[in-house]
Amino acid sequence: MEHQQLKDTDEKDQKLPEVLPVLPVRDSVIFPRMVIPLMVRDEDYLKMVDQVLQRDKLLVVAMIKDPDASERRPPEIHSVGTAGVILKLTKTEEGTVVVVQGISRVKIKDILSTEPFQQAKIVPLEDIEHSGKEIEAMMTSTWNLFKQIVDLSPHLPAELIQLARNVEQPGPLADMVVSTLNLERNKKQEILETLDVKERLKKLILFLNEELELQKMGRRIQEQVKKGIDKSQREYYLREQLKAIQKELGIDKEESPDIQELKERLKKKALPEAARQVAEKELERLSKMSPMAPEYTVSRTYLDWILDLPWLESTEDTIDINRAKKVLDKHHYNLEKVKNRILEYLAVRKLNPEHKGPILCFVGPPGTGKTSLGKAIAEAMGRKFVRISLGGVRDEAEIRGHRRTYVGALPGRIIQGIKKAKSNNPVFMLDEVDKLGMDFRGDPSSALLEVLDPEQNHSFSDHYLELEFDLSKVMFITTANQLDPIPAPLRDRMEVLELVGYTEDEKLQIATKFLIPRQVTEHGFKRSQVSIRKCALRKIIREYTREAGLRNLEREIGAICRAIAREVAEGKKGRFVVSAKDVEKYLGKPKFTHDMAERTSVPGIAVGLAWTPTGGDILFVEATMMPGEKSLVLTGQLGDVMKESAQAALSYLRSKAEELGIPEDFYKQHDIHIHVPAGAIPKDGPSAGVTMLTALASLLTKKPVKPRLAMTGEVTLRGTVLPVGGIKEKVLAASRSGIKEIILPKDNQKDLEEIPEKIRKQIKFHPVGRMEEVLEIALGLNHKGKRHRRKKAA
Ligand code: ADP
Repeated sequence: MEHQQLKDTDEKDQKLPEVLPVLPVRDSVIFPRMVIPLMVRDEDYLKMVDQVLQRDKLLVVAMIKDPDASERRPPEIHSVGTAGVILKLTKTEEGTVVVVQGISRVKIKDILSTEPFQQAKIVPLEDIEHSGKEIEAMMTSTWNLFKQIVDLSPHLPAELIQLARNVEQPGPLADMVVSTLNLERNKKQEILETLDVKERLKKLILFLNEELELQKMGRRIQEQVKKGIDKSQREYYLREQLKAIQKELGIDKEESPDIQELKERLKKKALPEAARQVAEKELERLSKMSPMAPEYTVSRTYLDWILDLPWLESTEDTIDINRAKKVLDKHHYNLEKVKNRILEYLAVRKLNPEHKGPILCFVGPPGTGKTSLGKAIAEAMGRKFVRISLGGVRDEAEIRGHRRTYVGALPGRIIQGIKKAKSNNPVFMLDEVDKLGMDFRGDPSSALLEVLDPEQNHSFSDHYLELEFDLSKVMFITTANQLDPIPAPLRDRMEVLELVGYTEDEKLQIATKFLIPRQVTEHGFKRSQVSIRKCALRKIIREYTREAGLRNLEREIGAICRAIAREVAEGKKGRFVVSAKDVEKYLGKPKFTHDMAERTSVPGIAVGLAWTPTGGDILFVEATMMPGEKSLVLTGQLGDVMKESAQAALSYLRSKAEELGIPEDFYKQHDIHIHVPAGAIPKDGPSAGVTMLTALASLLTKKPVKPRLAMTGEVTLRGTVLPVGGIKEKVLAASRSGIKEIILPKDNQKDLEEIPEKIRKQIKFHPVGRMEEVLEIALGLNHKGKRHRRKKAA
C-alpha cells in the first residue's frame, strides 16, 4: 500500500456534485486527503471507472458492511463513505489498480440506481472542530504512540513519524495516522464516521494503545525466540545447518539426554584448564556424532575418563603419630621394626609435607601383611587406599595406557588406580614390582620410574589421556616377594622394609588375636559364639597350611566359619568350640603330612631346605637303587644346576667309597634314581647339593638320616661346602615344619643373626665347611683313616 499525504491542492475546495457513482470496497477505508490504491477486478466496476474517468473523475468509495456477503448485488454498504478523485489507473496482471485520493467524508443518502452500478445521492460531512490544551495533549499522545508503533514495526518507514509531526490539525492527524496503520476494518470505519475530532482522537488513542500492546507482545515473543539465537549466533546457525544436513542424511537428532548429561557433568566438574579445554572440544565433537557411529563410544569413553578422574579432588591429611601407632597396632601383631620405620616416615611427612622421602617397599612372602600395612598407613593418614598389581606387566602401555587410536584402548594401570581412588593423593600400592617383565614392547620399569620420580611425576603423561596428570601428591608404596629381581634403578629409589614371615607361635597369636575374631564377625557370628582351640589352630597351621604368611591360615579359618554357619542354618544352636579332633570334620583330610620322622626313617631320604618366593620350604630328597647298568635317573622337575649337583655328589661318593665303607663297585650293577617329590614346582639351584649327597650316602651305607634334621649348602667335587642364599627364609620354613637341627655352610653363619631369637633357641645349628662333617652329623659316619676337623655346633 502506498500512503501519501496530499499537498494542499484545489481538490479540497472542489465542489462535489450531489450524485456520484459508488465504488464498494471490502477492506479499505479512504480518508480525506489520503491517496490509496484500490484493486478492481469486476467488469461492471471497471466500466464505471471508465465512465468516471471520462467525466469529472469523481466517485464515492464506501465499505461493504459484510465482506463475506460480497456476492450480493448490489452489496450493502456503510452509509458513511468518502468522496474521492481518481488519480491514476494502472492495468496489471491481477487486475486494474485505481489510485484514488480522498476529498471529503460523505453521507450516502439514497441509492438512486443500481444498474450497472450504484449511483447515490450524497451530502458532504464536515468535521466538528475543537482546540485547546486538551486537544494539544491528545495530539501529543497520538504522536508519541504513533512513534512507538512505527519504531516497533519493521514495515513502517521512520519518515512517517516526521510526516505525522507536520500535520497540525487534529482531525487530519487522526485520519493520517489511521490510514497508515494496519487497523481492523471496522475500527477504521468507526474513525471515518466520527466527525467530532476530539472524539475521533480519543478513539484513535485507544486503538493506538491496543496496537502498541500488540506490537510489544509481538516483539517480546520475537525477542524470546531471538535470545536463544543471539547467544552464540554463529554456532547456532552452524548447528542449525548441521541439523538440516543430518536430517537430510536421515541422522536427524536433537541433543540427546546423553550429551545433556555430559554437559551438566562437565559444568560441575573441577578440572585443570587444559583438561577442561580438551573435554569441551571432545564434547562438541561428540554432540555432532551419530550415537550409532563406532567413534561415538570411543569419544564418549574418553570423556567419561576425563570426567571421572580426580584431577583436583584430594583428601586432607590427618597425620597424628599417636593415632597412627594405634592404627598400626590395631591391625598388626608384632612387626615392631617395620611399624617403627613407618611411624618415622609419617613423622617426617608431618613435619615437612613437601619432603617427598623415599618410596617404601615392603618385601616378603605372600600373606605377611604387606597389603594390610599399606591399608593401615592410608587409614592413619586419612587417605584413600588403592592397589594395583604389576605382576606379569611386560608392556609399557600397561603402565602408561594405549593410544586412543587402538580399538578398546584404555588408560594405563596408574590412571586406572587413580580413578578408583577418587582422590589425587591416595596411598597407592604397587604390588609385585619384582614380577615386572620386559620385552620388545618396551620397558615398563622405565615408565614406572617416571611414576615414582618426584621430579617428574607432577606431569605424568598417559598415552590414552594425552593430558598430564599430577601424581606428585600420591604416596606410593611398592611390594615384592623378592628383592633381587627388582631393576636396580627402581630399587635405588626405594626404602626396603622386610617382612620375613611368621613362626608357628606368631601365627597362633595372630590367628587368635586378629584372624579368628575377624572371620567370626565377617561370617555373621558374635565373637563369643565361635572359638577355635589352640590345639586345633596348631593342627591347621601344621597340616593344612605350609606358608610363611597367613593367607591360607586365614582361608582355612574362614572355611571353618562357613561350615559352622551352615550348621547354624540347619538348626544347630549354642556356642561352637572347635578342637583338634573337629578340624578334619570341617576341613577334610590334612593337606600336608607332618610325617617327617616316618619319612626319614628309611635310608636314602634326606631333608633339604629350599628358598621359594613364597618364603622357603622343606624339600625331601629320595634316593633309591635298583639292578641296572650304571645310570643315574633324576626326576621331580629338576633344573640343570640341580642335576649337575647330583652328578657331582655321585662322583664324590665314588671317590670316597672306601673311606665311607661303601662297596666300591656299587654303581656297576645298579641304576640310581634320585627323586625330589612334592611338586610340580620346578626346582633348581646348587643349594640342594649337600642334601643329595647325604641322601645318596644314606642309601649306599644303609643308614637312615638323623630325624628332624634338615640341611642346605652347595658341594664341590672335593667335598667343600659352599655358602648359599635365603638362609632366613629356609630356617623359618624349617621351624614351621618341625625341624630341630639344621646343617648349613659355615660361611652362612652370619645370616643367622637376622633370625628371631626364639627360633634360634629352638633349633640347633651345625655350621660346616666340609662334606665329611655333614655325613658325620647326619649319618654318624666316620671317615676311615683320615681324621677330620670337627666343629661343635654353634
Ligand atoms: P600380603 O599383602 O603380604 O600378601 P596381606 O596384607 O594380604 O599380605 O595379609 C594377609 C592376611 O594376614 C591379612 O588378613 C592380614 O590382616 C593378616 N596379617 C598379616 N600380618 C599380620 C600381623 N602382623 N598381624 C595381624 N594380621 C596380620
